[in-house]
Amino acid sequence: MRLVYSNENSTLVSHAKNILENEGIELLIKNEHGSADMHSAFIYQEIWAMRDGDFDKAKNALSKLESSSSNEDWICTKCNETNDSSFETCWKCANEST
Ligand SMILES: [Zn+2]
Repeated sequence: MRLVYSNENSTLVSHAKNILENEGIELLIKNEHGSADMHSAFIYQEIWAMRDGDFDKAKNALSKLESSSSNEDWICTKCNETNDSSFETCWKCANEST
């Protein structure tokens, strides 16, 4: 059994769980109800792959999840200026983010 994902945000964890179930990976969730009645808000929920052989597949599926919420800079296609991910248009030439 191998740990494939861990987060204190239960929404993200259940989202990850859905993705992995769609991939047909057998899962075990630890600490699923950990933060419900405890004073700590920092209990990490963990998703484990039951079969070690599913680990790479699981990581691969989750990389899509992680990349979609990344904060990477983007490069303007018009003037090649690097923009922070929070900008929707280029700060230099106002070209829209792609
Ligand atoms: Zn630009």
